[in-house]
Order: sequence, then structure tokens, then C-alpha cells
Amino acid sequence: MSAPEIRVFNTMQQAKVPLAPLTPGKVGIYVCGPTVYSFVHLGNARTFTSFDVIVRYLRARGFAVKYVRNYTDVDDKIIKAAAETGEEPIALAARFVREFEADATKLRLLQPDVSPKVSETIPEIIALIVKLIANGVAYQSGGDVYFEVRKFPGYLKLSKKKLDDLLEGGGERELKGEEKRNPADFALWKAARPGEPSWDSPWGKGRPGWHIECSAMSSKYLGETFDLHGGGLDLIFPHHENELAQSEGASGKTLCNCWMHGGFLDLEGAKMSKSLGNVVRLRDALEKVDAEGLRYFFLTTHYRQQLAFSDKALHDAEGRMEYFYETLKKVDERLDAKEFIAGPLHGEPQRFLNDFHAAMSDDFNFAGALSAVSGVFAELNLLMDKPPVKDKVLVGRTLVALREVVRQMSKALGLFERKPEDWLLARRDRQVKAKGLDVAKVEAAIAARNAARAAKNFPEADRLRAELKATGVEIMDTPRGTEWKVASE
Ligand code: AMP
Ligand code: ZN
Repeated sequence: MSAPEIRVFNTMQQAKVPLAPLTPGKVGIYVCGPTVYSFVHLGNARTFTSFDVIVRYLRARGFAVKYVRNYTDVDDKIIKAAAETGEEPIALAARFVREFEADATKLRLLQPDVSPKVSETIPEIIALIVKLIANGVAYQSGGDVYFEVRKFPGYLKLSKKKLDDLLEGGGERELKGEEKRNPADFALWKAARPGEPSWDSPWGKGRPGWHIECSAMSSKYLGETFDLHGGGLDLIFPHHENELAQSEGASGKTLCNCWMHGGFLDLEGAKMSKSLGNVVRLRDALEKVDAEGLRYFFLTTHYRQQLAFSDKALHDAEGRMEYFYETLKKVDERLDAKEFIAGPLHGEPQRFLNDFHAAMSDDFNFAGALSAVSGVFAELNLLMDKPPVKDKVLVGRTLVALREVVRQMSKALGLFERKPEDWLLARRDRQVKAKGLDVAKVEAAIAARNAARAAKNFPEADRLRAELKATGVEIMDTPRGTEWKVASE
């Protein structure tokens, strides 16, 4: 079967629409990146992982993807954080860009093709604001420039909000400022205040408002109209609504063909967010759990659904990864041992790949894709432990084909990219550390047990095995000798 057409939920239409790239075979995607005033938390990490997998999958399907994810390095929150630490705002932002990159590497996120920064896009931002004023949808007021929402008929078409509701109160808006013609108008350019970073402009020294940066960066790198625009749900309003107004108000063209929004990661029933203070830093989580374990946890739920974080869920995800890697270790040992000639296969390994593509093509249904992954691993174990056919060559050939299916899924998901032994040993090291086990003692007890077995002192060998078990160590006798792991609870 050829892979099915990809359909994507478009927030604008509130429906799944076929992915129809502007240029056949190419996809341009812009994802709003981090505001770099602090360490990235698991909520941010979930959204960035979702788009990472979406980009991987599109590439696996043969699309040439141009992936742009910006850094917001000029912003009120950065200025506030810098005032607290006594750093220059641009220096503080640069420091957190480096921290973000270190964390993103640990999480094995793809490097975007372009990671532009606001501070490096000022001329384009100014040019865009000049155009908006010329088009009559923005106005200068003192040293500030505002977007005049009443002049842009499409305002609120993305968030489906009502302008009257915004005017009556509620919502995230800037209330103060008689200098605005309408309280819902938003800043494109803000006059410089002492101690803030500022640049020269036709309106005097100042800095960009929040939203204009993404309009400038997306058109700079992807053109005035591009394919996909992503971010978390919280960005629909005001950020994306305002971005849309600015871009379309300037170019008169559709900004993007499909708006994608990821659901929140919650902690104890509330959205994980820096402002609520209920955050787990990505780097702290990666001390306890492996990057692929965390990625697996994120992928257990559809990207648009809410996902609840807990230590237990993370622990379970890593346990599941252990099962996958143990399976791959066994499979790879089998495959290393023999050559398998081409020929007919047992069952239809391809059906797992078909299920996988069916799920991923349906608005990137991660959970459905993982169930196809589970299917292929169950089949691998079945073939190794209880082969339903006696023909060893046939079993081997089928293992080769299933291993290739895993490889293809792995590439699209960013999972199982490590050598199984390395992953399993690293997992064991983390468990040893968490449990405070003494590795030298474990290995001495294993050596004593092997000596007892060699001397045919089986009661002593059994006693030593039981003793190890009581400390949480499980031993496995394999053709390569005795191996051990920390037993899962
Ligand atoms: P920020 O650095 O706050 O601008 O956020 C960067 C990205 O993370 C945006 O796409 C947000 O929508 C997303 N984000 C923030 N908090 C969460 C959360 N709890 N769950 C999922 N995504 C989030
Ligand atoms: Zn943005």
C-alpha cells in the first residue's frame, strides 16, 4: 500500500484538511520558539517535541522540509529578569539561548534549519511596520506604533473571539494608554525606556512589540505565504491572531495555509507555566529519565490533547523503553549470528508500517503510531520466543524485515536511535544511582554465585541469587555469561 494522504487539523477551519504544500514536495514550517529568560520546562519541551516529530515524519515521507523556530530574545519578561540579575537584557537572553541549545541537544531535538533571533531581525521588523503604516492599518502615537485592529477586517478570524468582548474587559490585552485609538490595538513598536535595549527607527529609539517579530521572521525565511505554522494552544490569542493581522495587513496575502496548535502539559491539574510556578525544568527531568523515555511519554497522547505529567507516568514510559530496547538487543544478537537469504516472509511485517502511516497521516496521531510500534515489538518477541513456524530461516528473514520496520518508525519518531546495549547500560546506571546500589558488591556476589555453580553447589548459588533479588538486582544467564539489571518495581 502506498502511504495515505496526510491530513492536518487546521485551527482556522477547526477541521482536518489535506496537507497541500504550496510547492509540491516541499513544506515550510514556522514554530514559535522559546522566550529566553529562564530554563526551558517540560511544557515547552512537549510542544517542541511534537513539532520535532511532525518535521521528522514529513521528512520520512519524502518532503523537503524547511523548519524555522525562532528565539524571542527581546521581550518584557527578559527585561524584567535582567533587572533582577543585574545583567544586560541581550546578554541574559544570549545566555538562555545557550542553555536552551544544551537542553535541546540532550532531548535530541532536530536543529531547525533556521533559528532567527529578534535582535538580528530589527531592519525587517521596521520595514514591516513602515508598510503597515503606509497601508493604513497602523499608526504612530508619540514614540510608539500600534496596529489598528478596526482597520483589519479579518481580525479575530483565527481565535474566533469577538471584538466587543475584548473591549468590554477580560482577555489578555493592554488596557492602559490613552495614546491608543482603541483599547484592543496592540503595540508594533515601543518607545525606548531607560535601561531597555533599543534601536533607531523612523519613530525614534525603541524596540519591537512581541508579535511583529514572528511576522518579520516567517516572511524573511519562508516567504509571505507558507505551509504550516505551529505553537502551543496559548499562542492562538493574542500572539497568532496578531501575527496574522500584521502579516496579512502588510502583504494582503494569506499568512499560512494551516495553523497547528499543541495541547498543554499539565502538572497537578494546571498548565505547567513559569507564571504559575508549577514547572519541572527539562534538565532536571533528564537527570532522572532518559531523553527517549521522556519523548516516549510525550508521544503517548495526541499532540492536540492535554497531557498530565507525573513522575509515575515518566517512570512507566522509561520502563516501556526498556522493554523495547531489550527486545532490540535480543533481535540484533540473533541477526548478528546468521545471514538470512531473501525469500518469503512469515506474516506481513509491512502491515505494522501501514498502521503506523495510517495513524501519523491522520493529523499525526502519535498514540496510534505508538500502538503500531507496540504491535511490531510484540511480533518480534513472539517470533523469538515461540516461533509459530519451525523454519528458522523463515523466522530470521522475518526478523530482518521487522527490524527494518522498526528502523523506519524510529527515524520518524526519534525513538530507538541508540545502540540497545548502550541505552540499557545507561538506564541501569541511573537506577543504580537512584537506589544507591554498590556495583562492586553486586559483581562480587555474581562471581561468587558463578563459582558456586561451577562447584555444583547449587543451594549456595540459589541463595546468592535470592540475596541479590532482595536488593533489587535481577540476574540473567545468557550465552555471553551472567548479566544483571535492576528489577523494575
Ligand atoms: P514560551 O517560552 O513561554 O514563549 O513558550 C514556548 C512554547 O511552549 C510555546 O509554543 C508555548 O505555547 C509552549 N508552552 C508553554 N507552556 C506549555 C505547556 N504547559 N504545555 C505545552 N506547551 C507549552
Ligand atoms: Zn511567534
